[in-house]
Amino acid sequence: MAYNTIYMTNTDVKALLRSIPPMEELLNADWAAEFNARMGREQVKTIIAETIDAIRHELSHAVHDADDGMHPKAPVGELIAIRAVALLKMKASSTLKQVVNATGVVIHTNLGRAPLAGEAVRAVSGLAGGYNTLEYSLEKGGRGGRNSHVEWLVCCLTGAEAALVVNNNAAAVLLALSVVAAGREVVVSAGELVEIGGSFRIPEILAFSGARMVIVGCTNATRIGDYRDAITENTAVLLKVHPSNFRVEGFTASASREELGELARGRGLVFMEDLGSGLLCQLGVSFAREEPTVRACLEGGAGLVTFSGDKLLGGPQLGVIAGPRVLVEKMRGHQLCRALRVDKMCLAAFEATLRLYLAGRQGEIPVIRMIEMGAGETLRRARGLCRRLKEMGRASKRGDFVVEVVEADGVIGGGAFPTDLLPGFGVGLRCSSHSAEKLAAAFRAADVPVITAIRGEQVILHVRTLLDGEERVIVAAFAGLLGGKGL
Ligand SMILES: *Cc1c(COP(=O)(O)O)cnc(C)c1O
Repeated sequence: MAYNTIYMTNTDVKALLRSIPPMEELLNADWAAEFNARMGREQVKTIIAETIDAIRHELSHAVHDADDGMHPKAPVGELIAIRAVALLKMKASSTLKQVVNATGVVIHTNLGRAPLAGEAVRAVSGLAGGYNTLEYSLEKGGRGGRNSHVEWLVCCLTGAEAALVVNNNAAAVLLALSVVAAGREVVVSAGELVEIGGSFRIPEILAFSGARMVIVGCTNATRIGDYRDAITENTAVLLKVHPSNFRVEGFTASASREELGELARGRGLVFMEDLGSGLLCQLGVSFAREEPTVRACLEGGAGLVTFSGDKLLGGPQLGVIAGPRVLVEKMRGHQLCRALRVDKMCLAAFEATLRLYLAGRQGEIPVIRMIEMGAGETLRRARGLCRRLKEMGRASKRGDFVVEVVEADGVIGGGAFPTDLLPGFGVGLRCSSHSAEKLAAAFRAADVPVITAIRGEQVILHVRTLLDGEERVIVAAFAGLLGGKGL
């Protein structure tokens, strides 16, 4: 509703402008009280002032515009209240909030990547509100190491001699290169100058670390001889980067981990591998059979390995550097390490996640469970959800919604296995009176937003990425849609 679409005379406009209530009166109105308490009078005042400005602007342009049915004589104070409350409601509620991921993308970067396992969530909530042993040794009664809580777990699970945790994998690569290669040369294949998520680019990270990049080979083929020929007395590192989010098909060649490890050892260089996703155990899907675990990389010849905590590992956002103790200790002592360190909540979640692996309970990690979920299970869940939505549609007596079980393949996401599909089923929903885009927007506008996929005229609700009990949230959102909410 706006005044800029109404025929009004100059006299009307002047009268309306004069009737804008004073700020004090608006701030003391009943509707403002709740917001004064939640966000402070000053913020509320600013938002009311913005609303008044907008209405003034509209009024001064209102005289020649067309009518949208708004009564020109509606008390301006009421309009200010309606519009200010809408704005205040938006500003007073958090924008970082829980959503239901019905997209079928397991590691969805926009939706926060890996959802944590129950054990990890409990570890965080049990710790966050109080004091803890983050840097305290109970034995010594004094200072302890922040990294010690997870280091031995990482070592157990990967066979590494030492390990260090930082803010994310980009930070891990940066810190590792800053320590082992600053002022020296890093040899990397032309086929591995990867960009991840638009902001992590190997050439830029290398430059930022102070290392000089030496590119060898071609986009599709780099052989061990190319690396060998590029080594000079300034070379510090042979770098291998996992081509996480793309695939080169056709005629390709690359140097194996074993070859690179042997070459690096023979020349006294570091062979570093940026793995991206850190697999701690083999995934139970056929296309991932070739994907090496962190342990396999280290055993296969990698001297230093970096990987993410919140991709295939299924933990919190962080990056791990695993490798020989001498190098890891150097990194721990670097100024960057302090700037890139992780907090207590992150460490609590990581420790709990690693302990699930240690106990062989990785099936409780949502990312692993969702990836390994068979098509049969998705079919069973899709049928259950479809039945509930159909019943609701019938009960509402609306004939314009059609709900059915459909094939809906998931993907791993997060840049891992970009060309592989996870076959499965979901629920397709179409409405003869609204477009799929409109339905998807209405699902997003639900109290707990549901993020869906769209295929043609259908909204697709993938069940693979639903956490336990989230079918109920979808049912509630659909009930809203049937009542016209958001449409
Ligand atoms: C994802 C990825 C990164 C970046 O990791 P973040 O944890 O997002 O910082 C770096 N390298 C590779 C190969 C990756 O796949």
